[in-house]
Amino acid sequence: MKKLLEKLDPLLHARCGPMTDDLVLNPGEFGLGRVPGKVKPDATTTAVCGFCATGCGLKIHLKDGVAVNLSPDTRYPVNLGMACPKGWEALSPLTAPNRATTPLVRDERGSMVAVDWPAAMERFVEGFKGVQARHGARSVAYLSTGQIVNEEMAFLGALAKFGMGMLHGDSNTRQCMATAATAYKQSFGFDAPPYSYQDFEESDVLVFVGSNLCIAHPIMWQRVCRNPHRPEIIVVDPRKTETAMAATQHYAITPRSDLVLLYGLAHLLIEKGAVSQNYIDNHTDGYAAFAEFVRAFDPERVSRETGISQERLHCFANTIKEGKRVSFWWTMGVNQGHEATRTAQAIINLALMTGNMGRPGTGANSITGQCNAMGSRLYGNTTNLLGGHSFLKAADREKIASVLQIPVDSIPSEDSLAYDQIIEGIDEGTIRGLWIIATNGAHSWINQNRFTELAKKLEFLVVQDMYPDTESAKLAHLVLPAAGWGEKEGTFINSERRLGLVKRVRPAPGLALADFSIFRLIAHHWGLDEMFGRWTSPEALFQDMKKISRGQPCDITGIEDYAMIDLAGGIQWPCPDSAESPPEQERRLFADGKFFTPNQRARFVFDEPQPVPEAVDAEYPLLLLTGRGTSSQWHTQTRTANSDVLRKLYPAKAYIELNPLDAAALDVRDQDLVIVHSRRGEMQATAFLTLTVRPGQVFAPMHYRETNRLTFPAVDPHSRQPAYKSCAVAVKRAVRGK
Ligand code: SF4
Repeated sequence: MKKLLEKLDPLLHARCGPMTDDLVLNPGEFGLGRVPGKVKPDATTTAVCGFCATGCGLKIHLKDGVAVNLSPDTRYPVNLGMACPKGWEALSPLTAPNRATTPLVRDERGSMVAVDWPAAMERFVEGFKGVQARHGARSVAYLSTGQIVNEEMAFLGALAKFGMGMLHGDSNTRQCMATAATAYKQSFGFDAPPYSYQDFEESDVLVFVGSNLCIAHPIMWQRVCRNPHRPEIIVVDPRKTETAMAATQHYAITPRSDLVLLYGLAHLLIEKGAVSQNYIDNHTDGYAAFAEFVRAFDPERVSRETGISQERLHCFANTIKEGKRVSFWWTMGVNQGHEATRTAQAIINLALMTGNMGRPGTGANSITGQCNAMGSRLYGNTTNLLGGHSFLKAADREKIASVLQIPVDSIPSEDSLAYDQIIEGIDEGTIRGLWIIATNGAHSWINQNRFTELAKKLEFLVVQDMYPDTESAKLAHLVLPAAGWGEKEGTFINSERRLGLVKRVRPAPGLALADFSIFRLIAHHWGLDEMFGRWTSPEALFQDMKKISRGQPCDITGIEDYAMIDLAGGIQWPCPDSAESPPEQERRLFADGKFFTPNQRARFVFDEPQPVPEAVDAEYPLLLLTGRGTSSQWHTQTRTANSDVLRKLYPAKAYIELNPLDAAALDVRDQDLVIVHSRRGEMQATAFLTLTVRPGQVFAPMHYRETNRLTFPAVDPHSRQPAYKSCAVAVKRAVRGK
């Protein structure tokens, strides 16, 4: 793999600024000091963005060794010099006045009191060991994130499950990517998004299901706009989103009828002779049963259930049939549904049956949400044992124990409860202590009020975050102040499986520490130095990640070190050290038609569609859709609300989109203040009258804390991902607007 470095564009070598290691830092208690000491003169370095899973490359401009500004990296293969508002403003949330700068402990009167790290560690250990002594080791669980680097995810998962005796730990990736991961595992044999971003530019038909790419992944949308083939762009979405407005075909289906539509398309493609029998015969299993199953999804039924005319269904199928390189893309509109896994697999089935797999411009492609959601899936140690292994397989446990030089019986041989089961475990009394890292469930969890109510029942709640005033941190008994993106180093894995590098370009404020350093402190105070003392730095842990990955589909043994990732402009997995020639910078999976199942064949997976968990009725006559609001907002706004610039780019207060026909019936005018209520709670919002939503539907951006008071707590039975996208609500006018 050394050849890779030799073959790289010399310009890529030339552009590389100093690594964080070049900044001479004052070593702190555990070799990871907080304050830059002697620094290099003004220079420019690079890092990947820490918001979304696009994974754009940024050039970070330093003054006296500290980041003062940034600009998009023109040579990074992901974004080619582009960035969205969040990327441009990535540094500003770091300097917000409300950063967590010291550990905080709740005293007997309920007030949060600042303490130093030794006192915080004493409280942490005493708190969780106390819960475990009273209720058993498994009564403590953790909820993690897709926002921290791989090395921190791996450390956390190993520390909690191999060292602290926990069995249960999940991540907020459950809220966004569990469906895609489950669908890929069942269909392909491994959680393996097959594409490269180059596919956006090489397709002649792009089908987006439940994806508002313009807003949610604006740089990916720019890649679509660079497509020179005048592609057909098809959007399936109940709303006329920004992406739907730019599409060549928009199918505004009845909410949650996507599975019926996709089966109906399979029916029509078979009828039209548009299947690739050769590909099916050589590379798949289960097609005959699938073809028999979709016979029931004739155009008349599908039209009735989706609201799309038979003529337009034929048009959709013909466009796929005529496409030479058809790519299928999906994201949260699919993943966050009550039958999400089967819907994702219905998309996969279309790609398989038409042979649109493994070639440029094709694929069944799940677009990831968070900057390191893919890393969370592979290295979070939650649903998978590290590196995409299984807790249930003895050989996998032995391999991990051998790499980490730990006793094999310290690795659990059972799977964790999922996020929703951990939350319900609090109510049942099986979960009594909870450690939340870099996520904010009291805002983002479905049916938010219940999360908050249950969190209050915990005997000990620790929140580790950049900010002490998130909804979750306000409930905590102990808050641990964490460094953010730009204040620490490690790797992310983006949507196209590319490992990118994050660097420390600013000191964290006050006593805040990188999550990696916090885990080292906890390991020390818990008495686990022997188990984890080898992980003295993120890069030392990265070397173990490589060994763990050996022989897996996500093998990264060919990546020598961080410098290699930096020089290469990110490296996609797989990158094994056995490869004879350096990998291309843009690669897709399954070019050879071999999948990761035991017989190397992809599987057709399907099920009968199920009714929506909460249908509208006379009392709650409108269907609430939720989704991304603007490109300037990120999830719960923990960081974007702490940027003066980003805050100006979106409405400060919650709003809903309401169709004028419904508004007239409710006597609501544009800009009126309304109350939206469901069976679980209510929110106040400004009404925005628009034709983007159809009569009978309401849209609310997910970023406002009020939105998840309304959502219905259904989960997909296979992925256990919450079904955020539809529930029944009623709207009434509160105050007449101007
Ligand atoms: Fe960052 Fe995503 Fe914006 Fe790129 S698209 S700059 S990765 S937030």
